Amino acid sequence: MEFRKNDLVTLEIEDCGIDGEGIGKADGFTVFVKDAVIGDKVTAKIIKAKKNYGYGRLMEVLKPSPYRVEPKCAFARQCGGCQLQALSYDQQLVFKTNKVKGHLERIGGFTDIPMEPIIGMDELFHYRNKAQFPVGRNKEGKIVTGFYAGRTHNIIENRDCALGVAENKEVLDRVIAHMEKYGIEPYNEATGKGLVRHILIRYGYFTKEVMVCLILNGNKISKENVLVESLREIPGMTSITINVNKKRSNVILGEEIRLLWGQEYITDKIGDISYQISPLSFYQVNPRQTQKLYAKALEYADLHGEETVWDLYCGIGTISLFLAQKAKFVRGVEIVPAAIENAKENAKLNGLENTEFFVGKAEEVLPREYKKNGVYADVIVVDPPRKGCDETLLETMVEMNPERIVYVSCDSATLARDLKYLCERGYELRKVCAVDQFGMTVHVETVVLLSKGEIDSKKVRVEFSLEDMDMSGFQKGATYEQIKAYVLEHTGLKVSSLYISQIKRKCGLDVGQNYNLSKKEDAKVPKCPPEKEAAIRDALKYFQMI
Ligand code: SAH
Repeated sequence: MEFRKNDLVTLEIEDCGIDGEGIGKADGFTVFVKDAVIGDKVTAKIIKAKKNYGYGRLMEVLKPSPYRVEPKCAFARQCGGCQLQALSYDQQLVFKTNKVKGHLERIGGFTDIPMEPIIGMDELFHYRNKAQFPVGRNKEGKIVTGFYAGRTHNIIENRDCALGVAENKEVLDRVIAHMEKYGIEPYNEATGKGLVRHILIRYGYFTKEVMVCLILNGNKISKENVLVESLREIPGMTSITINVNKKRSNVILGEEIRLLWGQEYITDKIGDISYQISPLSFYQVNPRQTQKLYAKALEYADLHGEETVWDLYCGIGTISLFLAQKAKFVRGVEIVPAAIENAKENAKLNGLENTEFFVGKAEEVLPREYKKNGVYADVIVVDPPRKGCDETLLETMVEMNPERIVYVSCDSATLARDLKYLCERGYELRKVCAVDQFGMTVHVETVVLLSKGEIDSKKVRVEFSLEDMDMSGFQKGATYEQIKAYVLEHTGLKVSSLYISQIKRKCGLDVGQNYNLSKKEDAKVPKCPPEKEAAIRDALKYFQMI
């Protein structure tokens, strides 16, 4: 049966789409209904109809799903932010697990996906440490701030978002009162006139420091000192700045920052590491979950103080510094110069000198450093924005041939696409773990471990003893993992692939493309110490390679 616009249909909601919408069928016709929850029986009005499917507006819940809960926020349906507030948290986690799995299957072409259980949140509300509130006038001419109604530029007045911190309301009340008192105009998208565009607030979860940044279509705001005096009364206030953005675009922040009071950054902590964060830098929005996310990334990176690691899309060096606690050396790459300034400061602040940071596009810096300066990597970590990695970058990663790749992703569709590329070129999907950083929304963070399709060193040790091994399998030589396992077992030393390749080369063995050394004698490439050289030579002898 075909449906037309404005028809009313009754549906059992049987599935949940990737944007959190309910999906039901009426006489073979599939209808996507925003705000309907899996398990609901609803009536929906068709707002758009295609041949076999359409979109419906939820009119009435005839029988609520057992998974349906009362949203905490009164604006949950209007506001575009929380798509899942009416779904129980357990089911949100099921939804997110299925979303990641579904993308890996459909886009990545993977089967038998090694999914670990999703890591959920303990505190479901007030977890966001950052909010950017648009400012405007409503139909009655009143200055309003809050959130854009889903996919529009109409502002829903709400100074107390259920995901944000209590300090947000304090800041917004004071800025709006100041605007009203001194006749300061909000920015008007349609005309490009007016001054105040957005109010950015950041909160240090562990330090309780507060940052306010006013994004202006101009250089200054009237009675700056009066506003500063008022904002300073808020406990924890640490940084008050102005960001100038005179462009007529949807991009929220401009490039220029002017300090009004305090310092240009706030500090926060994740695990044992402190981070300075400036208004322009990216910082994860849910630090408590970020700690779990980074712990997982660190677990997957499997570092033992020997490894050289690249952290691509490093932001303010958050993951880099986490890894630097366990790695030999970490290099980070990030496109935003202010973030790299933060990263360098953060390395100093935490006394982690085994780090180096580069400003630039990952897809330009990594190929350059690899081809010109012969850098290598035992482990590469990537954490790109939603659009995923550039193919040039993936290509270079494959050429560099690191043992492990840890992919941290905030978009499982582009993740699946990039994993497909890497797994078609020699890598294997070892572990996948989703971490919920964004409860109530459809977004999900995922960490993935890839490694080369070789025998895992642990398995070599566990599954058969080296003493009883049939050597005929090693006619062509042992793998790097097998050599490492042998060395570890016989000497207790951990040796990197780089060292093995250096010794193999010294012994006149073919090392393939694995570990390209610098053409020049580059100081960045560490030399294998004599004790490890002897151990590797013993292993090569044992495996009858020399
Ligand atoms: N790993 C960091 C940041 C991840 S967000 C953390 O966990 O905090 C992604 C980062 O990639 C942002 O800081 C963004 O500025 C940066 N970025 C975007 N495109 C990039 C590119 N082509 N090359 C390098 N960095 C890029």
